[in-house]
Amino acid sequence: MDFPPYPSGLRLAGRRVLVVGGGNVAQRRVPQLIAVGAEVHVVSPEVTPAIEGLVGSGEITWHRRAFEDTDLEGCWYVIAVTDDVDVNDRVSELAEQQRIFCVRSDDGTRGTAWTPAVGRHAGVTIAVLGNREPRRSAAVRDEILEALREGSITAGHHRDRTPGVTLVGGGPGDPELMSIAGRKALMEADVVVADRLAPREVLGELPADVELIDVAKLPRGRSAQQAEINRVIVERALAGKRVVRFKGGDNFVFGRGYEEIIACREAGVPVTVIPGLTSPVAVPAIAGIPVTHRGVTHEFTIVSGHLPPGHPESLVEYAALARMRGTIVLMMAVENAPAIADALVAGGRKPGTPVAVVCDGTMPTQRTVLSTLGTLAASIAAEKVQPPAIIVVGEVVRVAFPDAYPASDG
Ligand code: SAH
Repeated sequence: MDFPPYPSGLRLAGRRVLVVGGGNVAQRRVPQLIAVGAEVHVVSPEVTPAIEGLVGSGEITWHRRAFEDTDLEGCWYVIAVTDDVDVNDRVSELAEQQRIFCVRSDDGTRGTAWTPAVGRHAGVTIAVLGNREPRRSAAVRDEILEALREGSITAGHHRDRTPGVTLVGGGPGDPELMSIAGRKALMEADVVVADRLAPREVLGELPADVELIDVAKLPRGRSAQQAEINRVIVERALAGKRVVRFKGGDNFVFGRGYEEIIACREAGVPVTVIPGLTSPVAVPAIAGIPVTHRGVTHEFTIVSGHLPPGHPESLVEYAALARMRGTIVLMMAVENAPAIADALVAGGRKPGTPVAVVCDGTMPTQRTVLSTLGTLAASIAAEKVQPPAIIVVGEVVRVAFPDAYPASDG
């Protein structure tokens, strides 16, 4: 007689749950219990550092001793995860007497409850109970989650239908570097307004009925184009559509994202923001350059180089930037890089300061051109550097490529 378990969702918020044992299995279970609001008590003479951290932050209570029979009092659920069979036996025996469901890690069949492989997506909990094959359960769970995230299981009636605008940061280009939240918002959109630098591959996965608006095809001129984007997103949202404004990197890093928020706010359209991995941090990282390094730099400054130094509309203090000692990350700066390098040297940075130009970060054409402030103009011309590129200035470049530069002269 081998009946399958009866699946049920336990509502443990505010209810006492006892975990007997403080090792690696307990460490995996406890965060899941905390996540559902359970009042978690761990009984164990010793616990892992991770569990101890949860005790320190007040998320659980630790009874630093061996299990005692009275520990089950007031509990709704108990998990026996010690490596001592006798203790687990005693816990499950008492639990049986007191009609408290008990999970046993050492021998699931001897417990009265099993822990499924759990995942959550868009308000749905997926719990898979295998027949003592935890790896298989986890694999099934992962496949279901993946399918939900990718949209191959759409579960249409669970879709979030609230109209409004979501700003989604797509990261530096590789679709694998998009957030799960961003992907989900895209798959639930009725209208997607996408920029040139947004990771375009994911657009191919959009359902056929989604309206895709390519900003590159809107009227030229930066301000006319932005006015048109603001108009389109507001108009579609007011018509009851879910609109995703999809950009490369993060929408608030030189992405005019907040102008769109203001336009929506003025029209009474609700806006959600899903941040993206921003290129001034992600692109150097992909190229193996840390923007900070202990003992080398205590700051990094991200600068838009779309205007040359001294331009009447420039908001950048190049003299101050030159006096600082940390990393400078230049964006939109290919054209003005020679003038910027001159301004930095004029302000006191050494001509030998290492510079890395990372082009087409995360794309198949990615490459890194190594140079120095003094030779940057020549390198850019010789290597025919084209945007998009991130230019990293500072000693962190030497840290990443020690062989390319003679030892620092300070
Ligand atoms: N919102 C974006 C930046 C938009 S400004 C973000 O957060 O990343 C456009 C500039 O970003 C480009 O001129 C370039 O300097 C940089 N950039 C964006 N993606 C890039 C990539 N994949 N490789 C190199 N530079 C990139």
